[in-house]
Amino acid sequence: MRQKLAAGNWKMNGTSAMLPELKALAEAYGTAGVEVLICPPAALLHRAAVVVSDSAVAVGGQDCHAAVSGAHTGDNSAEMLKDAGASAVILGHSERRTDHSERDAAVCAKAEAAMAVGLTAIVCLGESLQQREAGETLTVIGAQLQGSVPDGSTADNLVIAYEPIWAIGTGKVPTLEQIGEVHGFLRAQLVARFGDELGTGVRLLYGGSVKPGNAAEIFAVEDVDGALVGGASLKAADFAPIIAAL
Ligand code: 13P
Repeated sequence: MRQKLAAGNWKMNGTSAMLPELKALAEAYGTAGVEVLICPPAALLHRAAVVVSDSAVAVGGQDCHAAVSGAHTGDNSAEMLKDAGASAVILGHSERRTDHSERDAAVCAKAEAAMAVGLTAIVCLGESLQQREAGETLTVIGAQLQGSVPDGSTADNLVIAYEPIWAIGTGKVPTLEQIGEVHGFLRAQLVARFGDELGTGVRLLYGGSVKPGNAAEIFAVEDVDGALVGGASLKAADFAPIIAAL
């Protein structure tokens, strides 16, 4: 039985003024059966970890470098995230693929680095609107999955997030059939590559304009094991009903 996961990606939002929101969330969901993860900006990670330390809410990073240490100004290694209190890290988000030209091989190397220090890698995949309209969605997603997920993955250290680029921050959401098609495809691909244990055990999240009003119907789709939530994870009052819908 896959444990449901509600993950919040704060992106480049949040200073210490946001910590009371996190505290409210941790107090409300300290004993939830659902796994709850908040990924604040790196500058806030350690303080966020302290705020949630007595609750079931965990914190994660939004990116890490593939190297263990060295001359990489501005970057954080996986070990640094772990040391700051992270249990997971989002990798290959479409905003990083766009803003920092990250390609599948780089995402794969980062995922290896994350797994090597015991972090769960949340690997993001998703097609553009142009690719969807050209009927290329499964080809694009299949190639990203193949290239971004390391061989050493397990059902415990890997989570996949399907985030159609055109659904992120737009209020547009794929139909439930479209979500089900991609998630079913991802699971079949994972079973084919890694076998049943990982393929059936790994969590598949949907991300892109998840809100309190649409969470329940999205979570009812087969092979949707939770969500990666952007805007609606910034306020406990928005994120709490999404967690409750799981
Ligand atoms: P929104 O929930 O704001 O659409 O963002 C989704 C996302 O990119 C999460 O990683």
